[in-house]
Formats: sequence, C-alpha cells, structure tokens
Amino acid sequence: MNIQYTLVIIKPDGLKKSLTGNILTRLSEAKLCIVGAKVVHVSRELAEAHYAHLKQKPFFGEVVKYIRGEPYGTQYQRVLALVYEGEDAITKVRRLAGETNPEQAEATSIRGQYGRLTSSGLFENVLHCSSNPEDAEREIKLWFSPDEIVSETYPTKDVEMKIKRKGWL
Ligand code: GDP
Repeated sequence: MNIQYTLVIIKPDGLKKSLTGNILTRLSEAKLCIVGAKVVHVSRELAEAHYAHLKQKPFFGEVVKYIRGEPYGTQYQRVLALVYEGEDAITKVRRLAGETNPEQAEATSIRGQYGRLTSSGLFENVLHCSSNPEDAEREIKLWFSPDEIVSETYPTKDVEMKIKRKGWL
C-alpha cells in the first residue's frame, strides 16, 4: 500500500463559480479520505511561500494575486483547503484535476471542464493539488497545523506556544 497525502485547494474562481460541490464530487471518484478541511483567507506571505518555486517566473505576481482572490472581489478572497489521504492519492487527484493549462487539460478533467484561460493570459484552473510527495509534505505543513488534521500524517513534536488568539465573547 502506498498511502499518500495531498493538498487540494479550491481556488477563488472555483468558489466564485459555485463549483465546490462539483469539484468535491469529482474528487470523490478517487475514493480517498478527507482528513483536513478549512476555509482560508490567504495572506500574501502564505501565497508567496506556497508558490515559492515560481518566484522567477514572469507570472509569479499574477498567481499570488490569483490565489489570494484579488481579481474576484472581497467576497471571494478565500479558498477551501483540504488534505486527502489514501493509496496513490497524489497521482489520483492530479489525474482527475488535469493539466495545469486548462486549454490543454483533457475535456473531462476538472480543469478541462471548469477552467479557462483568461484574455489576460491567467490560467484560471479552479483547484490546486500537490505534484509529488515532497511538495505535498511541504504544502500540507505550510497550510495546516498537526491538530487540524485527523490522521497521523507526518511526525510531530510537542511545542509550548504562548499565542494570542480570538475567543468567543
Ligand atoms: P500546478 O501544480 O498544476 O498548479 O502548476 P504549477 O505549480 O506549475 O503552477 C501554479 C499555478 O501557476 C498554476 O496552477 C497556474 O494557475 C499558474 N501557472 C502555471 N504555469 C503558468 C504559465 O505558464 N502561465 C500562466 N499565466 N500561469 C501559469
């Protein structure tokens, strides 16, 4: 058994087009298990860290704005981030997602069905999914803390933290 974890992000265009249900239904074909899920308002730091491998690309600034939802209005400046667990999870999700460029993606893949190449050249491809086990580990650790995942993904340690956070009144 080759159990893998993969990070899936339904990007702001996916949320704006009301595609969450459709995308999750397509992903359920892979028979994987969701072990983490949350809505995230993506900070510039998180976006830049997530796309650090694209820093030298001419479209880096655009993809950072894209995942932060800047072109879509404040209501859509958020994403749905999920961690999937299961046998060959990375390959299975990538296959269902299709090619990065929605115009090259197979028509029945998620990106082929729902993505588009905008007139300004942006690949609006509705979801992100990890490419390989190393990227998956880096990305999952970037987006989630261990206690937000209901499975033993990667080794953890106990850390004492004094953090200020919002509580209910
Ligand atoms: P992914 O793993 O399939 O999402 O592909 P990458 O990690 O290489 O790229 C991250 C994101 O940057 C993609 O999902 C696209 O939104 C965007 N992107 C990648 N390559 C290009 C490109 O050549 N041109 C443009 N405009 N955007 C790109």
